[in-house]
Amino acid sequence: MYVSAKNMLIKAKAGHYAVPQININNLEWTKAALQTAQELNAPIILGVSEGAGKYMCGFQTVADMVKAIIEGLGITVPVALHLDHGSYDACYACMDAGFLSVMFDGSHYPIEENIEETRELVRVTGERGISLEAEVGSIGGEEDGVVGAGEVADPAECKQIADLGVTMLAAGIGNIHGKYPENWAGLDFGALEAIQELTGEMPLVLHGGTGIPEEMIRRAIELGVSKINVNTECQLAFAAATRGYIEAGKDLQGKGFDPRKLLAPGVEAIKAAVKEKMTLFGCVGKA
Ligand SMILES: [Zn+2]
Repeated sequence: MYVSAKNMLIKAKAGHYAVPQININNLEWTKAALQTAQELNAPIILGVSEGAGKYMCGFQTVADMVKAIIEGLGITVPVALHLDHGSYDACYACMDAGFLSVMFDGSHYPIEENIEETRELVRVTGERGISLEAEVGSIGGEEDGVVGAGEVADPAECKQIADLGVTMLAAGIGNIHGKYPENWAGLDFGALEAIQELTGEMPLVLHGGTGIPEEMIRRAIELGVSKINVNTECQLAFAAATRGYIEAGKDLQGKGFDPRKLLAPGVEAIKAAVKEKMTLFGCVGKA
Protein backbone atom coordinates (compact mmCIF):
# COMPACT_ATOMS: atom_id res chain seq x y z
CA MET A 1 0.00 0.00 0.00
CA TYR A 2 1.59 3.22 -1.23
CA VAL A 3 1.00 5.91 1.42
CA SER A 4 2.46 8.98 3.12
CA ALA A 5 4.44 8.47 6.33
CA LYS A 6 1.97 10.39 8.49
CA ASN A 7 -0.30 7.69 9.90
CA MET A 8 2.42 5.09 10.36
CA LEU A 9 4.45 7.56 12.42
CA ILE A 10 1.52 8.72 14.55
CA LYS A 11 0.86 5.04 15.32
CA ALA A 12 4.56 4.43 16.03
CA LYS A 13 4.82 7.36 18.42
CA ALA A 14 1.69 6.27 20.29
CA GLY A 15 2.82 2.63 20.32
CA HIS A 16 6.42 3.35 21.42
CA TYR A 17 8.18 1.74 18.49
CA ALA A 18 10.01 3.11 15.44
CA VAL A 19 9.60 2.64 11.68
CA PRO A 20 12.86 2.17 9.75
CA GLN A 21 13.74 4.32 6.79
CA ILE A 22 15.71 2.02 4.51
CA ASN A 23 17.57 3.93 1.81
CA ILE A 24 17.35 2.28 -1.60
CA ASN A 25 19.82 2.22 -4.48
CA ASN A 26 18.31 -0.01 -7.15
CA LEU A 27 15.60 -2.55 -7.90
CA GLU A 28 17.18 -5.32 -5.83
CA TRP A 29 17.44 -3.03 -2.78
CA THR A 30 13.81 -2.01 -3.10
CA LYS A 31 12.58 -5.54 -3.60
CA ALA A 32 14.57 -6.84 -0.61
CA ALA A 33 13.25 -4.09 1.69
CA LEU A 34 9.64 -4.50 0.59
CA GLN A 35 9.65 -8.30 0.77
CA THR A 36 11.03 -8.14 4.31
CA ALA A 37 8.43 -5.60 5.42
CA GLN A 38 5.66 -7.77 3.96
CA GLU A 39 7.05 -10.94 5.54
CA LEU A 40 7.21 -9.25 8.96
CA ASN A 41 3.91 -7.37 8.52
CA ALA A 42 5.71 -4.12 9.28
CA PRO A 43 5.36 -0.56 7.94
CA ILE A 44 8.37 0.76 6.03
CA ILE A 45 9.76 4.02 4.68
CA LEU A 46 11.97 3.86 1.58
CA GLY A 47 14.52 6.68 1.60
CA VAL A 48 15.96 8.20 -1.57
CA SER A 49 18.69 10.82 -1.42
CA GLU A 50 19.12 13.27 -4.28
CA GLY A 51 22.24 11.36 -5.33
CA ALA A 52 20.44 8.01 -5.29
CA GLY A 53 17.57 9.55 -7.25
CA LYS A 54 20.00 10.73 -9.89
CA TYR A 55 21.69 7.32 -9.96
CA MET A 56 18.32 5.64 -10.53
CA CYS A 57 17.61 7.88 -13.54
CA GLY A 58 15.51 10.49 -11.74
CA PHE A 59 12.72 10.68 -9.15
CA GLN A 60 10.04 9.74 -11.70
CA THR A 61 11.78 6.44 -12.41
CA VAL A 62 12.06 5.76 -8.68
CA ALA A 63 8.40 6.53 -7.93
CA ASP A 64 7.18 4.47 -10.89
CA MET A 65 9.47 1.57 -9.97
CA VAL A 66 8.41 1.52 -6.31
CA LYS A 67 4.70 1.65 -7.18
CA ALA A 68 5.13 -1.09 -9.78
CA ILE A 69 7.05 -3.34 -7.37
CA ILE A 70 4.36 -2.86 -4.72
CA GLU A 71 1.77 -3.96 -7.24
CA GLY A 72 3.88 -6.69 -8.80
CA LEU A 73 4.73 -8.31 -5.48
CA GLY A 74 1.30 -7.73 -3.93
CA ILE A 75 2.72 -5.68 -1.04
CA THR A 76 -0.10 -4.77 1.36
CA VAL A 77 1.86 -3.25 4.29
CA PRO A 78 2.12 0.58 4.35
CA VAL A 79 5.05 1.83 2.25
CA ALA A 80 6.10 5.50 2.19
CA LEU A 81 8.52 6.64 -0.51
CA HIS A 82 10.49 9.50 1.04
CA LEU A 83 13.02 12.04 -0.22
CA ASP A 84 16.02 12.01 2.16
CA HIS A 85 17.82 15.33 2.91
CA GLY A 86 16.19 17.20 0.05
CA SER A 87 16.73 20.75 -1.08
CA TYR A 88 13.69 23.01 -1.48
CA ASP A 89 13.65 22.36 -5.25
CA ALA A 90 14.10 18.60 -4.87
CA CYS A 91 11.02 18.51 -2.60
CA TYR A 92 8.93 19.92 -5.44
CA ALA A 93 10.53 17.59 -8.01
CA CYS A 94 9.66 14.58 -5.83
CA MET A 95 6.11 15.74 -5.15
CA ASP A 96 5.58 16.15 -8.89
CA ALA A 97 7.04 12.68 -9.50
CA GLY A 98 4.52 11.10 -7.10
CA PHE A 99 6.44 10.80 -3.82
CA LEU A 100 4.06 11.01 -0.84
CA SER A 101 6.78 11.98 1.64
CA VAL A 102 9.68 14.44 1.52
CA MET A 103 12.39 15.75 3.82
CA PHE A 104 13.40 19.36 3.53
CA ASP A 105 16.85 19.73 5.07
CA GLY A 106 17.19 23.41 5.87
CA SER A 107 19.52 22.73 8.79
CA HIS A 108 22.47 24.42 7.06
CA TYR A 109 20.52 27.68 6.69
CA PRO A 110 20.13 30.28 9.44
CA ILE A 111 17.10 29.26 11.55
CA GLU A 112 14.94 32.12 10.18
CA GLU A 113 15.44 30.89 6.61
CA ASN A 114 14.89 27.26 7.63
CA ILE A 115 11.60 28.35 9.24
CA GLU A 116 10.43 30.34 6.19
CA GLU A 117 11.07 27.57 3.67
CA THR A 118 9.72 24.87 5.98
CA ARG A 119 6.57 26.99 6.53
CA GLU A 120 5.97 27.18 2.78
CA LEU A 121 6.49 23.43 2.39
CA VAL A 122 4.09 22.70 5.27
CA ARG A 123 1.42 24.56 3.29
CA VAL A 124 2.14 22.84 -0.05
CA THR A 125 2.57 19.30 1.34
CA GLY A 126 -0.58 19.76 3.44
CA GLU A 127 -2.62 20.60 0.35
CA ARG A 128 -1.31 17.52 -1.43
CA GLY A 129 -1.54 15.02 1.46
CA ILE A 130 2.23 14.54 1.58
CA SER A 131 4.20 14.01 4.80
CA LEU A 132 7.07 16.40 5.53
CA GLU A 133 10.23 15.92 7.59
CA ALA A 134 12.20 18.95 8.69
CA GLU A 135 15.62 19.13 10.30
CA VAL A 136 17.16 21.26 13.02
CA GLY A 137 20.85 21.10 13.95
CA SER A 138 22.96 19.43 11.29
CA ILE A 139 23.71 15.74 11.62
CA GLY A 140 27.39 14.85 11.52
CA GLY A 141 29.18 12.73 8.96
CA GLU A 142 28.83 12.89 5.24
CA GLU A 143 25.60 12.74 3.20
CA ASP A 144 25.98 13.20 -0.55
CA GLY A 145 29.07 15.33 -0.06
CA VAL A 146 27.57 17.55 2.66
CA VAL A 147 29.65 17.22 5.82
CA GLY A 148 28.09 18.10 9.18
CA ALA A 149 29.86 18.47 12.51
CA GLY A 150 27.62 16.31 14.75
CA GLU A 151 25.74 19.14 16.39
CA VAL A 152 23.18 18.91 19.11
CA ALA A 153 20.02 20.78 18.15
CA ASP A 154 18.65 23.66 20.21
CA PRO A 155 15.34 22.43 21.73
CA ALA A 156 13.75 25.89 21.38
CA GLU A 157 14.53 25.90 17.64
CA CYS A 158 13.08 22.38 17.39
CA LYS A 159 9.85 23.66 18.92
CA GLN A 160 9.74 26.56 16.45
CA ILE A 161 9.97 24.17 13.50
CA ALA A 162 7.62 21.56 15.03
CA ASP A 163 4.98 24.25 15.65
CA LEU A 164 4.89 25.00 11.91
CA GLY A 165 3.01 21.71 11.52
CA VAL A 166 5.61 19.38 9.99
CA THR A 167 4.86 15.64 10.12
CA MET A 168 8.16 14.62 11.71
CA LEU A 169 11.28 16.28 12.96
CA ALA A 170 14.93 15.27 12.67
CA ALA A 171 17.09 16.81 15.35
CA GLY A 172 20.81 16.32 15.83
CA ILE A 173 21.53 14.64 19.19
CA GLY A 174 25.15 13.70 18.61
CA ASN A 175 24.28 11.12 15.92
CA ILE A 176 26.31 10.94 12.72
CA HIS A 177 25.90 9.51 9.24
CA GLY A 178 28.04 6.55 8.21
CA LYS A 179 30.28 4.56 10.53
CA TYR A 180 30.76 5.87 14.08
CA PRO A 181 34.32 6.70 15.13
CA GLU A 182 35.95 4.85 18.05
CA ASN A 183 35.86 7.94 20.25
CA TRP A 184 32.18 8.75 19.64
CA ALA A 185 30.55 10.24 22.73
CA GLY A 186 27.17 8.50 22.21
CA LEU A 187 23.70 9.99 21.86
CA ASP A 188 22.86 13.03 23.96
CA PHE A 189 19.74 11.80 25.81
CA GLY A 190 19.48 15.00 27.83
CA ALA A 191 19.03 16.93 24.60
CA LEU A 192 16.57 14.35 23.28
CA GLU A 193 14.50 14.60 26.47
CA ALA A 194 14.46 18.40 26.27
CA ILE A 195 13.39 18.26 22.60
CA GLN A 196 10.69 15.68 23.33
CA GLU A 197 9.40 17.78 26.22
CA LEU A 198 8.93 20.82 23.99
CA THR A 199 7.64 19.06 20.85
CA GLY A 200 5.11 16.71 22.50
CA GLU A 201 3.37 14.38 20.04
CA MET A 202 5.71 15.20 17.15
CA PRO A 203 7.36 11.99 15.86
CA LEU A 204 11.13 12.47 16.14
CA VAL A 205 13.60 11.10 13.61
CA LEU A 206 17.01 9.63 14.33
CA HIS A 207 19.41 9.77 11.39
CA GLY A 208 22.62 7.74 11.19
CA GLY A 209 21.11 4.51 12.58
CA THR A 210 24.12 2.38 11.59
CA GLY A 211 26.30 1.31 14.50
CA ILE A 212 24.39 2.96 17.36
CA PRO A 213 24.44 0.41 20.22
CA GLU A 214 21.10 -1.39 20.69
CA GLU A 215 20.63 -0.04 24.23
CA MET A 216 20.88 3.52 22.93
CA ILE A 217 18.37 2.77 20.16
CA ARG A 218 15.87 1.39 22.70
CA ARG A 219 16.32 4.39 24.96
CA ALA A 220 15.88 6.80 22.03
CA ILE A 221 12.62 5.09 21.07
CA GLU A 222 11.42 5.33 24.69
CA LEU A 223 12.17 9.05 24.55
CA GLY A 224 10.03 9.67 21.46
CA VAL A 225 12.03 8.64 18.38
CA SER A 226 9.56 7.10 15.89
CA LYS A 227 11.61 6.90 12.69
CA ILE A 228 15.19 5.68 12.39
CA ASN A 229 17.21 5.98 9.19
CA VAL A 230 19.28 3.01 8.12
CA ASN A 231 21.53 3.31 5.11
CA THR A 232 25.20 2.41 5.59
CA GLU A 233 24.37 -0.85 7.38
CA CYS A 234 22.61 -2.31 4.33
CA GLN A 235 25.47 -1.15 2.10
CA LEU A 236 28.05 -2.88 4.31
CA ALA A 237 25.96 -6.08 4.46
CA PHE A 238 25.46 -6.10 0.68
CA ALA A 239 29.14 -5.48 -0.02
CA ALA A 240 30.36 -8.17 2.40
CA ALA A 241 28.01 -10.82 0.99
CA THR A 242 28.96 -9.97 -2.59
CA ARG A 243 32.64 -10.06 -1.68
CA GLY A 244 32.14 -13.49 -0.09
CA TYR A 245 30.48 -14.85 -3.23
CA ILE A 246 33.26 -13.67 -5.51
CA GLU A 247 36.12 -14.57 -3.17
CA ALA A 248 34.69 -18.09 -2.96
CA GLY A 249 34.97 -18.20 -6.76
CA LYS A 250 31.25 -18.85 -7.16
CA ASP A 251 30.97 -16.49 -10.10
CA LEU A 252 33.35 -18.80 -11.95
CA GLN A 253 31.33 -21.96 -11.32
CA GLY A 254 28.61 -22.94 -13.83
CA LYS A 255 26.37 -19.96 -14.46
CA GLY A 256 27.48 -18.20 -11.30
CA PHE A 257 28.13 -15.08 -13.36
CA ASP A 258 24.37 -14.66 -13.95
CA PRO A 259 23.53 -11.34 -12.25
CA ARG A 260 20.51 -12.92 -10.61
CA LYS A 261 22.88 -15.37 -8.92
CA LEU A 262 25.73 -12.91 -8.39
CA LEU A 263 23.50 -10.40 -6.58
CA ALA A 264 21.45 -12.94 -4.63
CA PRO A 265 23.71 -13.18 -1.53
CA GLY A 266 23.77 -9.38 -1.28
CA VAL A 267 19.99 -9.24 -1.51
CA GLU A 268 19.68 -11.86 1.24
CA ALA A 269 22.11 -9.83 3.37
CA ILE A 270 19.97 -6.70 2.96
CA LYS A 271 16.88 -8.68 3.96
CA ALA A 272 18.64 -9.93 7.09
CA ALA A 273 19.79 -6.40 8.00
CA VAL A 274 16.28 -4.98 7.54
CA LYS A 275 14.78 -7.81 9.60
CA GLU A 276 17.26 -7.20 12.41
CA LYS A 277 16.40 -3.46 12.46
CA MET A 278 12.65 -4.02 12.36
CA THR A 279 12.92 -6.43 15.26
CA LEU A 280 15.06 -4.01 17.29
CA PHE A 281 12.79 -1.05 16.49
CA GLY A 282 9.68 -3.01 17.57
CA CYS A 283 7.68 -2.51 14.36
CA VAL A 284 7.21 -6.21 13.49
CA GLY A 285 3.48 -6.95 13.18
CA LYS A 286 2.56 -3.25 13.34
CA ALA A 287 1.43 -2.80 9.72
ZN1 LIG B 1 20.32 11.73 7.38
